Amino acid sequence: AKSAGGNRYELADPEADARAITRHGLTTALPAALERGEFFIEYQPLVHLGDGSVRGAEALVRWLHPQHGVIGPDRFIPLAEHTGLIVPLGRWVLEESVRQARRWEARTTGGIDAGPLRVNVNLSPMQLTHPGLVSDTVDILEREGLEPGALCLEVTESALIGADDDLLKPLRRLAEMGVDIALDDFGTGYSNLANLRRLPVSVLKLDRSFTQGMQHFPADPVDLKIVEGIVSLAHSLDLAVTVEGVETGAQADQLRELGCDTAQGWYYARPGPPDRLHELALADATG
Ligand code: C2E
Ligand code: CA
Ligand code: CA
Ligand code: CA
Repeated sequence: AKSAGGNRYELADPEADARAITRHGLTTALPAALERGEFFIEYQPLVHLGDGSVRGAEALVRWLHPQHGVIGPDRFIPLAEHTGLIVPLGRWVLEESVRQARRWEARTTGGIDAGPLRVNVNLSPMQLTHPGLVSDTVDILEREGLEPGALCLEVTESALIGADDDLLKPLRRLAEMGVDIALDDFGTGYSNLANLRRLPVSVLKLDRSFTQGMQHFPADPVDLKIVEGIVSLAHSLDLAVTVEGVETGAQADQLRELGCDTAQGWYYARPGPPDRLHELALADATG
């Protein structure tokens, strides 16, 4: 739907526009988009449930498409995984996020006693099996001068189901260096809970579906029992529990009572530009 005489797209016919962004079109545009720098990252705060302080943020990638505007990761990450572009794209996200965490650190002049702001980065299954994962991560951390302990890599539960030692080895090496590994979307993959002991993870990220179950008051007592059980199991294995999708204060209160450690969700903040995270962190450090 090109407007007459110009190069700009108009959205007068949204359906035609939706058709224009086909999977195929997006897929073939991805490599050039990476080269032209059309991706950007938003950061969503991770908040300590005990004292409400901002401890870090999850990096969430977006695509600013020259014609179609901002496209969310649910639409293009699967395509990038399919073509293998996720490896260079994921490396770019890691590098950019680590650089950003280093900037937060450099600009923190005191007042935040919870330590430096940390950054969480999502890893796709294909990045896990890519032989360069450990060396790329080490290179990036060294080049940018960030402590490994300020980085957390999020891997989905489903990516690690039935994982053999070959798959776990790079994660173990990263964990030994001090990088945190989080098990993302936990509770959706029906993994064997006993299996958790084998995995080099230090954080469980409870999937949003659990938080959604708590939207209604009073929450379903069975849901509460399940979360309580997961939290106590996690803590007995020395894992911290982060909950995603917290949208209301009532949910936050309930999750705090259930012993969850960290929360993320619209109640605290939507994903946003990197400077806003630093402002939020400073604001809560100074009261
Ligand atoms: P995820 O890792 O589970 O990330 C959390 C998603 O929940 C984000 O969606 C976030 O914006 C959204 N969210 C946060 N708080 C709330 C809330 O209170 N309510 C609701 N309804 N949603 C909330 P987003 O940014 O669209 O990302 C979607 C997925 O795309 C991510 O899910 C992750 O799997 C993937 N993704 C994003 N960035 C990357 C990346 O750099 N690499 C890889 N491999 N995957 C990424
Ligand atoms: Ca995640
Ligand atoms: Ca998640
Ligand atoms: Ca998810």
